[in-house]
Amino acid sequence: MSKVMIIGCGGVASVAIAKCCQNSDVFTEIMIASRTKSKCDAMKEKLQPTTKTVITTAQVDADNTEELIALINEYKPDAVLNVALPYQDLTIMDACLATGVDYIDTANYEAENTDDPEWRKIYEERCKKEGFTAYFDYSWQWAYKKKFEDAGITAILGSGFDPGVTSVYSAYALKHYFDEIHYIDILDCNGGDHGYPFATNFNPEINLREVSAMGSYWEDGHWVEVEPMSIKREYDFPEVGEKDMYLLHHEEIESLAKNIPGIKRIRFFMTFGQSYLTHMKCLENVGMLSTTPINFEGKEIVPIQFLKALLPDPASLGPRTVGKTNIGCIFKGVKDGKEKTIYIYNVCDHQECYKEVGSQAISYTTGVPAMIGTMMVVEGLWKKPGVFNVEEFDPDPYMEALNKWGLPWVVCENPQEVE
Ligand code: NDP
Repeated sequence: MSKVMIIGCGGVASVAIAKCCQNSDVFTEIMIASRTKSKCDAMKEKLQPTTKTVITTAQVDADNTEELIALINEYKPDAVLNVALPYQDLTIMDACLATGVDYIDTANYEAENTDDPEWRKIYEERCKKEGFTAYFDYSWQWAYKKKFEDAGITAILGSGFDPGVTSVYSAYALKHYFDEIHYIDILDCNGGDHGYPFATNFNPEINLREVSAMGSYWEDGHWVEVEPMSIKREYDFPEVGEKDMYLLHHEEIESLAKNIPGIKRIRFFMTFGQSYLTHMKCLENVGMLSTTPINFEGKEIVPIQFLKALLPDPASLGPRTVGKTNIGCIFKGVKDGKEKTIYIYNVCDHQECYKEVGSQAISYTTGVPAMIGTMMVVEGLWKKPGVFNVEEFDPDPYMEALNKWGLPWVVCENPQEVE
């Protein structure tokens, strides 16, 4: 029995909310609070007749800590699930601290305005110190550890698929299959087709920033940074087939490098088709991916936000996307003195997800783990004071929940390896 406030009502939130409603023994009451209340009300209207979970809705500006504090104090949830945008991570964590409520999210903090001189100064120091230039990193949220410890509350960072499930797979592999893991390759394959020449599967602003950033990987205790999309491999994905994939910087590399003892290298690859890459390069070259506001006919606009308004809404891709995703990790290490390699992955079918919750598989594979991470906290299975990444907890109950709630996984011994 629990009462949870869910912030955000977009693609990922819709799935997390639908899954909480399927799991009404655990989620007895939920509040959907987001910027546009009409979306929350529409979600309530659709789901309330199907569930015992009591749904309430509210309007909130999650950039405003005071507003969040007032709403949390009024609703008194056991936990807050943040499925808004990474820009709101810190204001929501501040509100959780002020009200003594546990916090869960799916993506690490990212500044909305990367031209803000105060943020830029800290960012540039971090680039020099750490050796990677992505706009997002864990330092901002890890800095809350002591405050959460002192307040006696839990923050779980990154309970989506990647980060999230991939990180739990890592903890599970270490617990059950290895004495030491030396190499991790995280492979994110979307074999789905939505029929548009160009669309992003989740929030276009966040997605395009991630994909156009410099690539990087962790090797022998430090970051190696490479030009965007400069490392390409082919891989034959189970149930999807042969795809081109490219090395990207990805946030779980940062936490796994810290939390997996003895690790030598961690890389992250994502599949992209040629049409996506050509469109992205062109948009980047003409300045459409910029986050710096420009003046257009007397009105200030941010190019990437304007682009977002032109692109298909990721939430509208559900009915037209066919095919499957395959996301997982290849682990190589030693057990009882012998070298071994295993591959843990999940295959998810876009149309099956759409039939179940009305969303495509990208939102589904993030929304289900967001619900599961929240369940771990409100059931007391993953609850200790501080700020944690998901691989820092016992992976077993989470892995069991993945099988139960729609993301079954496979362990494959001796898989094809990535060169
Ligand atoms: P969407 O853009 O579809 O949804 C974001 C939601 O947040 C919208 O409902 C939006 O409101 C709301 N929102 C934005 N700003 C505010 C604000 N200031 N106050 C209140 N509500 C606000 O994004 P997605 O659902 O695609 O992504 C959600 C999160 O999931 C992101 O953080 C993303 O990075 C993360 N993610 C994580 C993945 C993982 O595997 N770990 C994979 C994919 C996504 P409105 O409706 O008014 O626009």
